[in-house]
Amino acid sequence: MLQRLFHYFSADLAVDLGTANTRIGVVGEGLVLDEPSVVAVAEGNGRVLSGGCAVGHMAKQMQGRTPESISVVRPLADGVVADFQLCEAMLRYFLHKAQPSGFRRKPRVLVAVPARITPVEKRAVFNSTQRAGARQVWLTTEAKAAAIGVGLPIAEPVASMVCDIGGGTTETAVLSLADTVSARSIRTGGDAMDQAIADYLRRHYSLRIGLPAAERLRIDLGSAYPLEEEQVEEISGVDMISGLPRKATVTSEEVRQALEDPLQRIVESIKSTLDGCSPDLAADLVDTGLVLCGGGSLLRRIDRFLGEQTGLPVRVASEPRAAVAQGMLICLEQFERWRPSLQSSDEDVY
Ligand code: ADP
Ligand code: MG
Repeated sequence: MLQRLFHYFSADLAVDLGTANTRIGVVGEGLVLDEPSVVAVAEGNGRVLSGGCAVGHMAKQMQGRTPESISVVRPLADGVVADFQLCEAMLRYFLHKAQPSGFRRKPRVLVAVPARITPVEKRAVFNSTQRAGARQVWLTTEAKAAAIGVGLPIAEPVASMVCDIGGGTTETAVLSLADTVSARSIRTGGDAMDQAIADYLRRHYSLRIGLPAAERLRIDLGSAYPLEEEQVEEISGVDMISGLPRKATVTSEEVRQALEDPLQRIVESIKSTLDGCSPDLAADLVDTGLVLCGGGSLLRRIDRFLGEQTGLPVRVASEPRAAVAQGMLICLEQFERWRPSLQSSDEDVY
């Protein structure tokens, strides 16, 4: 009897399928997985490399350092599924890794998706997740999950605002009474910032660097607002004229200058989200402010910068990278309360 009960007992998982990173939470256990959303594939047959070393952390380490026969790809682009087969393979690996041992039955899975995805893209997420081993799938929007995760009172008749700066996109939303009032999504996030840094070095130093190197520079030196003590770092790249490797010294002011464009696009997107609110809700935000989350919000002094640009009080969530997964875990824990706002795979999404 006990064994039978055990057999039918299955886990509920929260999956934050980000363009840059996938995070999985298990009800009762918290966050159990946090890995890059990348897969290494063998050219020619398009199959994922075998040996379990081809997804997530291991695949990311190979990035930029593979022979021609192997490529490292992201199955998600702009927050939606770009390659169905690879997305499914990646999810299967992550779901298997995240499931507590002893859980025999397929898990029920809640997945967060960007607010603007089309019905066809929704169907792709449902199908990939189901084929990757889920028994039932629900969808919620990333912004709503993030707002719940950072502790905003989104069910109340007052405006709550979040801005999630991820790898591929930045999603901004204002919520009230558990629903989205105004939302914007732009294809600017950490990746666009890295590209801007690489472009800057090419223009100003005739130096070519890879995007992973640009990301390291952004994390080490990057800031959105002047620092109390500016920093310098030496960076290695390839000279564009001689084609030979060489080093250059870059300052934090230069990195900030390189980031001006992508940061301005984020400011515009926040302002446009505010434009989509009624005056009463916009007025609430003067007090309640804007909460930042997503890995991109770890850029130094971005709260200060966005605060000055928008006139709102701005703070960064205490665990910005985990906010979406944490919010989804809360939805699963208080399932009956949040169920009306989740979309189930049993419903027709067309
Ligand atoms: P997504 O939800 O799109 O998968 P994440 O929320 O995981 O994205 O954020 C990924 C982005 O966060 C990457 O561009 C990464 O460079 C950036 N990031 C992570 N840590 C830091 C940090 N300490 N400082 C600045 N950016 C960071
Ligand atoms: Mg995200």
